[in-house]
Amino acid sequence: MSTEAKQQYSINKLEKRIRRQTGQAVGDFGMIEDGDKVMVCLSGGKDSYTLLTTLQYLQKVAPIQFSIVAVNLDQKQPGFPEHVLPEYLDKLGVDYKIVEENTYAIVKEKVPEGKTTCALCSRLRRGILYRTAKELGATKIALGHHRDDMLETLFLNMFHGGSLKSMPPKLVSDNGEHVVIRPLAYVKEKDIERYAQAQGYPIIPCNLCGSQENLQRKQIKEMLRQWDRQYPGRIESMFKALTNVVPSHLADPTLFDFAQASATAQTHGDTAFDQPTLPGSHSFQTEDEDAEQIQVIQVANA
Ligand code: SF4
Repeated sequence: MSTEAKQQYSINKLEKRIRRQTGQAVGDFGMIEDGDKVMVCLSGGKDSYTLLTTLQYLQKVAPIQFSIVAVNLDQKQPGFPEHVLPEYLDKLGVDYKIVEENTYAIVKEKVPEGKTTCALCSRLRRGILYRTAKELGATKIALGHHRDDMLETLFLNMFHGGSLKSMPPKLVSDNGEHVVIRPLAYVKEKDIERYAQAQGYPIIPCNLCGSQENLQRKQIKEMLRQWDRQYPGRIESMFKALTNVVPSHLADPTLFDFAQASATAQTHGDTAFDQPTLPGSHSFQTEDEDAEQIQVIQVANA
């Protein structure tokens, strides 16, 4: 096989994986229903382009009917290349709307010089996107966050917010009017990077406003990347943990009624002191089984 053919084969495999994982997440969390109008938020970054491409594919093959409208918010940042997205979307033939709102001027006016502007900017953007969804009659708002965004948010909240929470794949807005979905929830950022490059998307850089990327998020991203290099499988296990929560083994009395917990007959015996289940393994039970399991894990990671 020629090098070119090999590369094409590998990109096809990557595309299939992104499509399969997106379809899986959409199904697992009931993200899209028959008759939905899905507003895809398109920033011009790799994640949102990949989201749009993949949802367009799913639209063709899904057993349900749903429509797509792409929305870009032009925040009037200096140097924003206004022509890029309309040209791309016209070529694609997708329904779209460009919303122009000068949030850049607002954050510059409100946020003192030298302070990070992202919090206010994101709040303003969210409000405008919710309003646009209402105007367009969109029933779902799709965002391009992926698996690694969700893990970074989990650690940000643990390290700096004192809470165990991430970005959910599906969320109802505080006022109950909007349903936000994240169809790329199962997709790795590395896969999106490779895919976006292969697709040759006209990427618009995200730092046009001149604001520093959130430093804490940057540090956590680097920590996760380092773990991924040093301990293959750790990121996968951490993401699995997000889908496998045991409130009785945490310490939040609002999720589990510890006060009412009392000794009762257990059909399956006491599992309170089970050791953690590792990827591709069973829970440890006896010393012999420990040794066996360790071997299995070593083989799996070899
Ligand atoms: S980097 Fe700039 S455009 Fe992006 S959220 Fe922060 S302030 Fe807004």
